[in-house]
Parts: sequence; C-alpha cells; structure tokens
Amino acid sequence: MKRLVIVGGGYFGVDAYRAVLREAGREVRSGEIQMTVVSMGEHHAFHGWTGEVLGGIVAPAHMLTSLVGLLPRASFVHGRVVSADLVARKVTVHLPDDTECVLPFDRLLLGTGSRDALECLAGVREHGWCLKTPGDLHAFRAKLHAELRADQLGRPALRVAVIGGGFAGVEMAAAIAELGRARGGREVQVHLIGSGERLLNELRPRYARLAEYAERELRALGVELHLGPRATAVTADGVRLASGAVVASDLTLFTAGVAFDVLPGTLDLPRDEQGRLVTDEFLRVSGRDDVFAGGDAAVVARPSGGVCPTNALWAMKHGMWAGANAARSIQGRPLRRFSYGGLGQAASVGVGRGVTELKGVQFTGLPGWVLRLGFFAWYMPSRRQSVRVLRDWWQLAARGRRLDGEGTLNNSGVKPRSAPALLRGERRGPGRVEQ
Ligand SMILES: Cc1cc2nc3c(=O)[nH]c(=O)nc-3n(C[C@H](O)[C@H](O)[C@H](O)COP(=O)(O)OP(=O)(O)OC[C@H]3O[C@@H](n4cnc5c(N)ncnc54)[C@H](O)[C@@H]3O)c2cc1C
Repeated sequence: MKRLVIVGGGYFGVDAYRAVLREAGREVRSGEIQMTVVSMGEHHAFHGWTGEVLGGIVAPAHMLTSLVGLLPRASFVHGRVVSADLVARKVTVHLPDDTECVLPFDRLLLGTGSRDALECLAGVREHGWCLKTPGDLHAFRAKLHAELRADQLGRPALRVAVIGGGFAGVEMAAAIAELGRARGGREVQVHLIGSGERLLNELRPRYARLAEYAERELRALGVELHLGPRATAVTADGVRLASGAVVASDLTLFTAGVAFDVLPGTLDLPRDEQGRLVTDEFLRVSGRDDVFAGGDAAVVARPSGGVCPTNALWAMKHGMWAGANAARSIQGRPLRRFSYGGLGQAASVGVGRGVTELKGVQFTGLPGWVLRLGFFAWYMPSRRQSVRVLRDWWQLAARGRRLDGEGTLNNSGVKPRSAPALLRGERRGPGRVEQ
C-alpha cells in the first residue's frame, strides 16, 4: 500500500485530490493507494467572492465548501502540519484537541498557500484588518456592516482605507464604496492606497486598457486614490505614507502582500528569495522525486516563459498536474510536463462593472463583469455552492436584497426591481440606490 499525503485543502489540494482519483481511481478504491488531506481549516474557501461577501451580496457560507464532502475518497485530517521529516517520510500534525498525529507518506504534496505579510507594515496587526481566512473576513464584515447601519446615520462619515493597489485591493475598495451607497446608512469614504504610480500593475502594460477602466470606475464610485508613496505604518487614526502624509481612517484593510511559512523540516528544500518552493516541470520540488508542490506556496515555471502568477486558477492547475504526476510516479508511469497555457484574469469594480482578459481579449463593463461571474461560478469546487451563489446574485438582481453583517436579510423597503434597473441604480446613484 502506498500513502499519499496532501497538505492544504485549498485550490491546489482539492484539484490534486481529484487528479489522483482520475489517474489512479482503481488503486484508491481498492486501498492500494491511501490518500490523506490535511488542512488547518475544515472548508475550502473560494476567495474570488470576498468582495461580494463583504458587500452583502453572497452569503458567507456560500463561499465555503466542506472538505469532508469534497474529498470522499480521502481521509481528512483537520489540523496543522507542524513538522516534516523528509528522510523518514512522515509529517506531524497538531490537532485541534492539542494532541498530535503522525502521517507516514510515500508521496507528499505541499499546497500550503500563503498568508498576509503583516510583518511588513508596522501597526497593521494591532490596528488593521485582513481577509485571508474565513474568520478574518467574518470579523471585518461584521464590523463594517455595524458601522454602516442606518442607526449610525448622523455620525461623521466612516473612513475606510484599503492598502494594496492590486486585484484584491481594487475589488474590496469598490465593494465597500458600493455597499455604503446601497445601505443608505452612515456615509462611507473609501481611500485606496497603492505603492505603484498606477493601479493594477499586474495588467500593465499589455492590458492597460482594463486597468484604466478599473481606475475610472473606482473614481466614479467616489474612491479616493493615493498612489505612489507606500504605506509605512498603520495607527489607530489612519495610515502613514512614505511621503509623510497621513490618510485618516477608522478602518484599515490590508491586501498588500503575502508571505510564505516554511514547514519545520523542509528548510533544506530549494526556495526562491520570497520563500516559495522551487519546482521542476513535473511539479516535483527540485531535487526530490517524492515531494510535489504548487499553488501560492511554490514557484512554478510558466510554459510560455517566466513564472506562473499566484492566483486561484494557477493553483488549481498546479494541483491537477502535481496530483496526476504523484499518482503516475507511484504507478511507475512517465510523468507529464506542466503545459497549461493560462486562461485569463478578471476583477469586479462593482455590480455590473468588471474587467476580464480572456486569452488575450479584453472586456470591460457589463461583458467583463458577466464573464467574471460565469468564470468564477464555473471554477467553484462544488456545483451546489455555485448554484447557491448564483441564487444570491439573483436575490440582489430581482429583489435588491443585501445581507447585513450577521448574514440576515436586509431588504426592508426595497421594492423588487429588474436586473438592468438594479445595475443602473447601483452604478452611479448618489447615496442610497434610487427606488
Ligand atoms: C481576499 C482575497 C481575494 C482573492 N481573490 C482572488 C480572485 O478573485 N481570483 C484569484 O484567482 N485569486 C484570488 N485570490 C488568491 C487565491 O485565493 C490564491 O491564489 C489561492 O488561494 C492559492 O491557492 P492555494 O491552494 O495555493 O492556497 P489556499 O487556497 O490558501 O490553501 C492553502 C491551504 O493550506 C492549508 N495550510 C496551510 N498551512 C498548513 C499547515 N501547516 N498544515 C495544514 N494545512 C495548512 C490552509 O488551511 C489551506 O487549506 C484571493 C486571495 C485573497 C486573500
């Protein structure tokens, strides 16, 4: 019997599991290959809907999928891998009840993702908020919605600073600005702080048109952009910039960088300067034939040149290749070279407005937004959850329904409206969406 251990229940881990089943389903069913997935969380989190969850459009539970349900042919261990012994081929897992278990492996797949690089910005741990884990998102969402409630009307405008001019920062700034308008309670002023001269450098120069569109839409939503000097510190009163200026804020959201933790026992594995594991063209960690890696935690060469971006789609594709190759290496079959070419990228800048690049073709506005919606719904790990998310969207389109910070309905006084009317209404209406 061969043991295959996957560390991480994110995009990489789930797709690796599925690829092992595709490649070696018979061996898994017969018990010749025993698969175990270890994850610190009990759910797969689909981060693509983070802005929609903040905005009260998608219910928080709908972006989460139970890993036990997603991985029926694997043993699932809820815990944190605290060390790996690559000589004796075993990992040690710290379990929630404070005990430990040891999992031997013949093949180890590492998809531990990334975490917010909070150590890079003074004061952000104490005074900032982040969104990486479902708990982080829940806490910020509850706070934001409480501050925007109608009974807060009359208080000075809520100032929210979002640090990070990449996809996440842009989406969150748009979602918060739009939520403020839709809720019609306390006014909200959103400040987006980016250290580049322009937003969305990931899209430039090739897709600059998309980045320019997103920038215009953010300004139209009333988001104030602070581009250039980087944030140097977060305090209780705001964000200090390298220029000496201070952006006053009541809530500061950090989306500006990720870091990678090294599992004790894996220090000798090759890494890039950021700490990501270096892999070969078969997704094996360079120099090892029993350890595979991918997703945010690994640096993987892009077949067309350069390295793969760190995002969900690439993590899924890494999982597909790593899982298949791990199974094939157990079966003694030749491994497959990573050959995925990429599909595109997308971001939302509010309901009905998006930017999408699909195989080099650029879409903005409603087409860009619809493509993103379809793209994300398609790539969710569970069809049932995709349907629930689409139903949430329908509730917004048909009834104007948004959820409040506790996840309950908040559609009092909002008449059913047609989807196009809603999209128009949410687009530019000053203050509350026109009824
Ligand atoms: C707010 C936000 C919005 C985003 N929006 C988008 C978007 O719109 N589009 C997009 O493509 N990407 C988006 N991303 C990025 C995307 O989420 C990541 O690229 C993706 O999650 C990487 O997948 P992964 O499998 O490598 O890691 P993850 O999905 O983060 O999974 C890592 C897994 O490893 C587990 N783990 C970590 N360490 C251990 C350990 N020691 N022991 C056990 N388990 C461990 C974690 O519990 C988790 O299950 C967003 C990210 C954030 C934070």
